[in-house]
Amino acid sequence: MTALLQATDLWKSFGDQEVLRGVSLALETHEVVALIGASGSGKSTLLRCLGLLEPIDDGQIFLDGADISDPRVDGNRVRARFGAVFQSYNLFPHLSVLDNVTLASRVVHRMPRRAAEDRAMGLLERIGLAPLAREHPDRLSGGQQQRAAIVRAIATDPEVLLLDEITSALDPELVGEVLELVRELAAEGATILMATHEMAFARDVADRVVFLDEGIVREQGTPSEVFGAPREVRTRAFLSRFT
Ligand code: ADP
Ligand code: MG
Repeated sequence: MTALLQATDLWKSFGDQEVLRGVSLALETHEVVALIGASGSGKSTLLRCLGLLEPIDDGQIFLDGADISDPRVDGNRVRARFGAVFQSYNLFPHLSVLDNVTLASRVVHRMPRRAAEDRAMGLLERIGLAPLAREHPDRLSGGQQQRAAIVRAIATDPEVLLLDEITSALDPELVGEVLELVRELAAEGATILMATHEMAFARDVADRVVFLDEGIVREQGTPSEVFGAPREVRTRAFLSRFT
């Protein structure tokens, strides 16, 4: 098994609604995969299931060859190997930006405060937010908050980054700075699975595009395959909304 993250035949229902209906997906180390699909198609559920933030009903998830969906695994230890960023409300409002970024390093990974803060300040410096490190998140713009959330997610050196429509709650003028940071992380070799409606960005940055449709992977391929020559009628119908 070569994939860093591999899901086979995932099933997930909420009540009697089947949200994931046999999803299989593999993510190679350093690969950037864009997960596209209509609202309600199951993208967030899939990301949450993969990151063990939501239990699956059936199927298996392997991280670096080990079955992390086995009920005997320590979920907290597995979750610490993922970095996750969601649409909004990622930062803890009652903590400073710096404490947000260092929290997991200190508490989960037991890094000494000084080392965690040095590393966090380096990351905040990189995104131009070092001067705001002691502020609370509400002093930051939405774009700054999302960039801080990404920095928080990478502060622990996660093996896989799960990004769930991280720009969709932002004012349009703030989207670019967030996508630019994702682009940089991708170029540096991060392994990323991102649900996104930013088709131009997906086309540009993703190695592979996966189209999720009513809880199944309807089609996947390189960006030029999926965007340039979609094979499935449903993919074409979905993509036509963006042109
Ligand atoms: P997407 O991210 O593609 O918009 P979601 O995974 O958020 O799709 O949702 C897929 C379906 O699952 C939707 O119909 C949604 O209402 C339902 N759903 C998601 N999370 C829950 C939940 N915690 N409880 C009940 N239904 C949910
Ligand atoms: Mg979603």
